[in-house]
Amino acid sequence: GEKQPTNINALAEEYLRLAYHGLRAKDKSFNADFKTDFDESIGKINIVPQDIGRVLLNLFNNAFYTVSEKKSKLNGTYEPMVTITTKKENGSVIIKVTDNGNGIPQNIVTKIFQPFFTTKPTGQGTGLGLSLSYDIIKAHGGEIKLESKEGEGSKFTIELQKDKTLD
Ligand code: ADP
Ligand code: MG
Repeated sequence: GEKQPTNINALAEEYLRLAYHGLRAKDKSFNADFKTDFDESIGKINIVPQDIGRVLLNLFNNAFYTVSEKKSKLNGTYEPMVTITTKKENGSVIIKVTDNGNGIPQNIVTKIFQPFFTTKPTGQGTGLGLSLSYDIIKAHGGEIKLESKEGEGSKFTIELQKDKTLD
């Protein structure tokens, strides 16, 4: 794909809905709240929209997967939540995808970006999502980082350079 000036908020919204409705189609009882908090002043950024879309879709799928798993263990008072926020910071755009799911144990944090690493049952995960995401973000000259607390949830942060010629 080619880089093109893209509204990252609209792209994120589209893929969030795709992830949510994709899961609902497979599992009618699946339910989760999601929130968006978009910085409307970002303007367009120069990215390959299909590639960044795949990254976001994988982050959302992972987030909905973990909250639905946690919900089926806990039900009752647990309220699944997946959040996406965007903001401008200096010359960059920061995108955060947060969930209050199972979190990632410290001993596997270093492995999750490796190809074929998955904790999902056979047929449910290829283990390629995050390694592909890492490559796509690197190819854009950006960064992807993870903060997670086992039992409490995860936050993935993507930083992309904002092209100064756009706005
Ligand atoms: P897959 O989704 O096919 O397993 P990924 O590369 O997307 O492959 O993710 C690799 C692994 O990282 C997952 O199997 C899971 O163990 C862990 N993981 C990724 N995102 C999350 C998340 N939001 N919460 C908990 N674990 C996660
Ligand atoms: Mg995945």
